[in-house]
Amino acid sequence: LRSKLPAVGTTIFTVIGQLSAQYKAINLSQGAPNFPCDPALIRYAHEAMLAGHNQYAPMTGLPALREALAAKAEALYGHTYDPADEVTVMASASEALFSAVTALVHPGDEVIIFEPAFDSYAPMVELQGAIVVPVKLNAPEFAIPWDEVAAKISPRTRMIVLNTPHNPTGTVLGEADIAALTRLTDNTDIVILSDEVYEHVVFDGQLHHGMSRHPKLAERAVVVGSFGKTFHVTGWRVGFCMAPAALMDEVRKVHQFAMFAADTPMQHALAKIMQQPDNYLGLAAFYQQKRDLLVDALKDSRLKLHPSAGSFFLLAEFGHLSDETDSQFVQRLIREHGVSTIPVSAFYSDGTDARVIRLSFAKDDATLLAAAERLCRV
Ligand code: GLN
Repeated sequence: LRSKLPAVGTTIFTVIGQLSAQYKAINLSQGAPNFPCDPALIRYAHEAMLAGHNQYAPMTGLPALREALAAKAEALYGHTYDPADEVTVMASASEALFSAVTALVHPGDEVIIFEPAFDSYAPMVELQGAIVVPVKLNAPEFAIPWDEVAAKISPRTRMIVLNTPHNPTGTVLGEADIAALTRLTDNTDIVILSDEVYEHVVFDGQLHHGMSRHPKLAERAVVVGSFGKTFHVTGWRVGFCMAPAALMDEVRKVHQFAMFAADTPMQHALAKIMQQPDNYLGLAAFYQQKRDLLVDALKDSRLKLHPSAGSFFLLAEFGHLSDETDSQFVQRLIREHGVSTIPVSAFYSDGTDARVIRLSFAKDDATLLAAAERLCRV
């Protein structure tokens, strides 16, 4: 069999998830909550099913949900998206990313990806016969080296993939990044694919600099979001994207034949809970408390923690403690200490090993404290 992705194995989240289960480790690996969602959300889904909403939803998404998304973007970021042709409900943020790349990237196009990068980005690009142009974020702050981006932009650059707040580093874009990005993309036909699934998880009173906040960027951006991350229901597989109509038209052409539509009763439930903005407006404080709890519980650990400005994640350096690769270290933490994390080398196309691991604090407080106690013995 001639593989279309010869260099790709099983995603690190599945590999570590299985190892974690096998050793019954405390799981700080996958960025998925281990605590329940709002019971009202489950009630709404149940009510929707009982009311007979069990057949296909509209291809573009339930109108009430698209309208709620457009209203939120307007209220929080000041950008007006037309819910009719600029907002689409997707069967997960992953599907939104995949449909956008498939629709907009041609064979031979170049796509700039910042590494460490979420592990699905590069394979999505390669599947189009396009070329991944990796740009490494500058450790230890993991800032974007804009000079290097400028040098790597070519007439074949079709897309720049952004992710803010950033998985796995927990960094967020700031004003200077927005200015640089605007300068580099102005008067080009470069599309920005902006993964903003942690848009409501930005800490310490900082602003989320999503593309919708900046008109010059919004006009060339496909913004991707996640209901799973926002409402603690990652297993529901409902996400969305927003983009100017001309871009969205193309994305929908792929979405309609990949998934056709997202889950119907879940969309009804989400449309209802979107009417209660406290749910997502309180998310930053909710996760900041978890970040602080974990950081505090690890203050006696020998791991060197990086700050986290947003997302569900923080990075920890271990290079001063052992000569192992990050994968070996992660496996030993699971086997000998009963805590699972993610090796950050999995987020580099060339396997760069900065001897850093990713910890997820999207866990209940007892889990975070128990994991920290174990990690303090490392
Ligand atoms: N986004 C989550 C993470 O980074 C889960 C991703 C996945 O399992 N595909 O942990």
